[in-house]
Formats: sequence, C-alpha cells, structure tokens
Amino acid sequence: MIPMVDLKDQYAEIREEIQTGLNDLLESCHFILGSNVHAFEQEAANYLGVKHAIGVASGTDALHLALLAAGVKKGDEVITTAFTFIATAEAIRYIGATPVFVDIDPDTFNIDPEQIEAAITKKTTAILPVHLFGQPAEMERLQAICKKHELKLVEDCAQSFGASINDNQTGSMGISAGFSFFPSKNLGAFGDGGLVTTDDDVVADRLHMLRNHGSNVRYHHDVIGYNSRLDEIQAVILRAKLKRIDQYNERRRRLAVSYSKQLSDLPVQTPYEDNRGIHVYHQYTLLSEHRNDIMQALQNNEIASTIYYPIPLHRQNVFADQYKNLQLPVTEDISRRCFSIPIYPELSDQNICKIVDVIRSVFS
Ligand SMILES: *Cc1c(COP(=O)(O)O)cnc(C)c1O
Repeated sequence: MIPMVDLKDQYAEIREEIQTGLNDLLESCHFILGSNVHAFEQEAANYLGVKHAIGVASGTDALHLALLAAGVKKGDEVITTAFTFIATAEAIRYIGATPVFVDIDPDTFNIDPEQIEAAITKKTTAILPVHLFGQPAEMERLQAICKKHELKLVEDCAQSFGASINDNQTGSMGISAGFSFFPSKNLGAFGDGGLVTTDDDVVADRLHMLRNHGSNVRYHHDVIGYNSRLDEIQAVILRAKLKRIDQYNERRRRLAVSYSKQLSDLPVQTPYEDNRGIHVYHQYTLLSEHRNDIMQALQNNEIASTIYYPIPLHRQNVFADQYKNLQLPVTEDISRRCFSIPIYPELSDQNICKIVDVIRSVFS
C-alpha cells in the first residue's frame, strides 16, 4: 500500500532527538507556555522572516485569532476562496463576519485577483487568501488591492509552511497569518497545533492575550480571550522538524518535478510552476476528465489518492442556502476534475515510477 502520507519514516529519522526532548520536558513538568514554546516561536519567526510568531492550539484557531487580532469584526465581509478546507470560512464565521467567495485562477487554484475588486463592498474589511496545496497566492496583486481599498490582508498558510513568492515567505506578507501543524501538514506536530505570525507589535500584543484568556499578566484580564495555546509537547516535536523543513520541502519539490516530467505526455494537467513562487507541494494535485478511471486504477494497485476538495465551500450543506445563487464556474469545474496523489518527503523515487506507470496504464 502506498498511502497519501506516511508519518512513520519521518519519525524514525528524528526519534532520538524527539525522545530526548520529550524526556527532558516530562522531567521538568512545565507543560504550558514554557521554554520549548518560546524557543519554537523565536525559531519560527526567524525562519519566516517575521517579527512575531505566536503558538496557538490549531490552524483553525490560528486563522480565527489572526482575523480577530487584525481587527475583523462582526458584520464585516471577508473575501476568500471556496476552494479550500472548511476551516478557512469557519474562522470568518466564528467572528460573525461573512465569507465572500471569489472564484479561483484555473492554473494556481488560488483566489483570482482579477475578480476581487467586483466583490468589494462598504462592509469588506479583509482578504483571506489561501496558499492552496503549498502554492503561494499572487501576493503582490493582493497587497496592491488591499492598499488601494484599505483592507487587511490575512494569509491562510495552513498548507504552505516554507513556501515563498518573490523571496518572501508565506505568512510574512499580510497584517497577520495562520499556520497549521496538523500532523499531515508540511510541518506537522504529533497532535493539533498552530501559529500566528505578524510584524505588527500591537497585533502581536493582542494575539498574546487572545490565546491566553485575554491576559498578558497572570490573573489580569483585559479582553475576552480563549484557551488556545500551543503546548510544550508539540513545541518539542516542531523544533526538531523545523530544523529539517527545508530538506523536507526540497524533497517534496524534487518528487513533484519527477511526477510532472513523467506525466507530461498524458491527458492530465500537472501543477502550475513559475519562477516567482516556490510551491512546497503539501499536495500534488492533477486535473483530468478521467479522474474516476485513474483513481480506480490506483486503488486496484493499492495506491491511495484523494479528492481535495470534492465540494467547494459555497456548495457545502452548512452554506448551501446562503450561497445558492452564487456561481463560481472555475471552482466548480476544478472540483469536478481534481485529485491528489501521494507526496511526502519519504516517498521513494521507485514508488513515483510505480504510481506513474499505473496512471499511464489507464491511457494505453
Ligand atoms: C489544515 C487546514 C486548516 C486548519 O488547520 P487545523 O490545524 O486542522 O485546525 C485551515 N486551512 C486550511 C487550508 C487547511 O488545510
């Protein structure tokens, strides 16, 4: 069986370092907001090129708190994409704001900057792009739109740790950004975890309070906050993996190049690549009219494949009534044709060839 992701080999390589770190932590019994979280926040901020990184309990919380700290309020409209995981829109709704879905670019699968201005109203206060599958969104265009209309730019970096565009890391280009450390993400913890980044001291201050019951000084509470801290156990794991994230992402990129080269003569659309964006391939996602046949053939050969995402957010039951008149033709077309095949740093070149051979067999 070739799974979508296999976390065991990655653990095996760093087992000793993690076990030593966890052992020290268990002996110290300092489990909440201790030295590992502080060190990880510093190391992540350095890596990402931001002034502040604040550990939180999950990627979903990271987005929620990133929007709140940026000043998004109840009744606001936030422009985003419907071709993403539900958490992107949930974070907006937690605040009582409304997600306004804009269609995507058919090549990058990210929000189409061309269509954003038509969706801006008096209530719009922010744009929340997603760097989907590890492909950076068109940040320069989004920054220009935000500047012109005085909107906040908040990034969903749940799938893009280490991705960059024009030499800027994702998570460093807006007022704030949310990352996820769900175990299968490019930088994955051994449980839930997340991170919010910002260069703004005031926003960082708010985030430190929001994640910890509205408090910066113990038992002094300035706002209604949350219990949303990254815990020390996850920070131990993340510190070990952060040291190796470039190596992990480079391997993903090498595998993607290999897939795209070998699949180039088949009737499938391989992921978009250009010279500006460094795609970190959280997923390797193809488009094909023959999706069902390909996925069936892969399954027959014990190779996993998954559709990310079969139902765009505006067609999900939870949102269906609210958006019944909304048409997003590109999003809908792509969700009908997309499917993702295994990619993770420990996947062997040999298995890439095997997967390609099975796909090829569908067309011969
Ligand atoms: C994983 C993910 C999230 C949520 O992260 P969690 O850590 O699972 O809460 C948000 N947005 C996108 C695009 C994701 O892929």
